[in-house]
Amino acid sequence: MNTNSSYSTSAGSALLEPWSGPFGGVPPFDRVRVEDFPPALEAAMAENLAEIEAIATSPEAPTFENTLAALERSGRALERVSTVYDVWSSAMSSPAFQAVEREMAPKLAAFADRITQNEALFRRIESVYTSPEKAALTPEQQRLVWRTYTAFVRAGAKLGAQAKARLSEINQRLAELYTRFGQNVLADETEQMLVLGDEADLAGLPEPLRAAARAAAESKGLPGKWAITNTRSSVDPFLTYSERRDLRERVWRMFVERGDRGGAHDNKAIITEILKRRAERARLLGYPTHAHWRLEDSMAKTPDRAMELMRSVWRPAVERVREEVADMQALAEREGAGISIEPWDYRFYMERVRKERYDLDQNEVKPYLQLEKLREAMFWVAGELFGYAFAPVEVPVYHPDVRVWEVSDRATGKHVGLFYFDPYAREGKRSGAWMNAYRNQEHFAGEVATIVSNNANFVKGLPGELVLISWDDASTLFHEFGHALHGLASDVSYPSLSGTAVARDYVEFPSQLLEHWLSTPEVLQKFAVHYQTGEPMPRELAERIERAATFNQGFATVEFLASALMDMELHLAGEQEIDPTAFEKETLSALGMPREIVMRHRTPHFLHVFDGDGYSAGYYSYLWADVLTADGFAAFTEAGGPYDAEIAQRLREHVFSVGNTVDAAEGYRAFRGREARVEALMKKRGFPVPHAAD
Ligand SMILES: [Zn+2]
Repeated sequence: MNTNSSYSTSAGSALLEPWSGPFGGVPPFDRVRVEDFPPALEAAMAENLAEIEAIATSPEAPTFENTLAALERSGRALERVSTVYDVWSSAMSSPAFQAVEREMAPKLAAFADRITQNEALFRRIESVYTSPEKAALTPEQQRLVWRTYTAFVRAGAKLGAQAKARLSEINQRLAELYTRFGQNVLADETEQMLVLGDEADLAGLPEPLRAAARAAAESKGLPGKWAITNTRSSVDPFLTYSERRDLRERVWRMFVERGDRGGAHDNKAIITEILKRRAERARLLGYPTHAHWRLEDSMAKTPDRAMELMRSVWRPAVERVREEVADMQALAEREGAGISIEPWDYRFYMERVRKERYDLDQNEVKPYLQLEKLREAMFWVAGELFGYAFAPVEVPVYHPDVRVWEVSDRATGKHVGLFYFDPYAREGKRSGAWMNAYRNQEHFAGEVATIVSNNANFVKGLPGELVLISWDDASTLFHEFGHALHGLASDVSYPSLSGTAVARDYVEFPSQLLEHWLSTPEVLQKFAVHYQTGEPMPRELAERIERAATFNQGFATVEFLASALMDMELHLAGEQEIDPTAFEKETLSALGMPREIVMRHRTPHFLHVFDGDGYSAGYYSYLWADVLTADGFAAFTEAGGPYDAEIAQRLREHVFSVGNTVDAAEGYRAFRGREARVEALMKKRGFPVPHAAD
């Protein structure tokens, strides 16, 4: 009996069908089977190609309506299937799914090229782009024409046939390499862990960490032991608290050697090939390097401008690190530790210095940071700033940990969108935190409300236990929610300009901005309540947190910038054969990298840069956007404070609601009334403020 094909047809179509259910339809997460992805993707690609062919070969003269609008209308089935596929890729991976990914990644890349390389289609787009009638279109329509035309050109639409063929070959190979890169990192994160069997191994670990390690061991089939898993949420706290220097070193090595362990999951050869092919692709497309190609479509525009900002912050940050290390070293000597500070000591001694200098202990803060209360806090902030209300709803989810809320407008009751929340680490879920849009807001093909999700890797306690998180994790929570609000507040016509579809170095502005609301007195008073007593965080503790805000900014900035500068240097290096180990070493030494710090993401597991094109030559974006963030938050503090209604309204009108319908720099200027200045960033990080020369 050939069950295979009949299964594929029937269940594959569940992925293909328009979404059914409430709220204009919701993703069919309860009807997903891994084996259905290939046939569903193939069918959706075929459907989209037929749509494209019809647009490209239309006998009518090209117009906005029959070309650009028609393109916006097309590809909806593929959009739906890909959305669910991407959720499986990031949050529900398994060996079976990974096999599907390896098969599909190059096919999806080839498919994308078949569209951008369709000459008849490009000629029609170009004809609308150059037509004088363009001036009669709405500003958003003109922006869509420009975006689409530029995207096609940047993808090689103007190249000759031979170059196009080579480009497509490169893209398919890159897609394969990206998939393998990500899968290798995931394998090292899943398979590597430090198992502790003895109470003495836990010295210094606070109770919630012990409980989390116990739960992790139990889920790995090791009851009665403790497991430090190989993800940041579990590694960083261990490095902060463990008094066992030997174990700190082991955990640190395990984490920084992801993708760099030799053997089947080693990423170094993959990196060399990715860089080489990216450089070749940039040359084919007419750019000096991959960095130049990527940056053209950003707010920074050129690698030089991004490098200039990074270098200006690097120097004061390194100087601050020297001070931080001296403080830690002095403390270690007073205690007679007889050590010199190593990278696996940094977080541990940093925490001790924090305690000594600011009388601030993260363990004193954590009992006030309940994950669920902070989730309520971010909902409350969204209510204050944008007038949103959140109500839990029951819709299909892909894992029991996922919960969903309907977002509506408090004043009018109007539906705004859905918010899916997947907070916990688990096997098959990639590390870190991220936001997805399952469906983009649009007014074009009917009134379509968005569906967004936030994903994180908080360590779940034993059943029934409250989850307490660190201050950093709480900031991450607010960060991702900022992305979610960027999606939810979107109010545009065309889906490809909707929500977070903005320049990459602008997209982190809304998210980083929202982090600022965590430390507002309103949030701390109402939501930072002790998990046992229910008492709000004492005012004087909040003040100590405030005073310590610029503490350790040397470490945080250098850790980040080392990765960001490395990313840019790797992509400015051109077509040479790069040995990642040697390149990393030479670049760090040329930079004057403090030996006590390791890059936040070392090259062999730098997912931002190597599991897709996404943040390649783009990790600097977080710093770029933080200039806007610090400067933008000052708009609130200069006015009536973080909840100033008028500033919030401007923020929504010019930043959160416009998607990519306006140029990022223009949007920011409209919100702030002027260009962003770097002074607020330097002040926020506690670095000397440069003179405002220009
Ligand atoms: Zn972000």
